[in-house]
Amino acid sequence: MKMPKSVKRYCPSCKKHTLQNVTQNKTGRKRGAMTIGERRHHRRGGIEGYGGFPKPQLEKSSKHKKKTSKKIDIRFECSICKKKNALKNTFRAKKFEIVKIGV
Ligand SMILES: [Zn+2]
Repeated sequence: MKMPKSVKRYCPSCKKHTLQNVTQNKTGRKRGAMTIGERRHHRRGGIEGYGGFPKPQLEKSSKHKKKTSKKIDIRFECSICKKKNALKNTFRAKKFEIVKIGV
């Protein structure tokens, strides 16, 4: 889906509707060093020379269907108080982009 870059929303700290910029929160960041499994895998020289990936991939079956859409994590930054508010009820979408409207 497409989302306008700025929307008029209610700001809890301003206690009124303000123009707010939409930003997508980047997910998938790693915290700290590698995990134990990752370190072990790295020590063994990656995938090569070790008889396959540490964890064999699950066979495709109807029971273990992967979701094709992702939950979207967007933040609204108030243009007046510069406070960021997260969306309370997130939704799923295959594609998501922030588009400029009315420039
Ligand atoms: Zn505000």
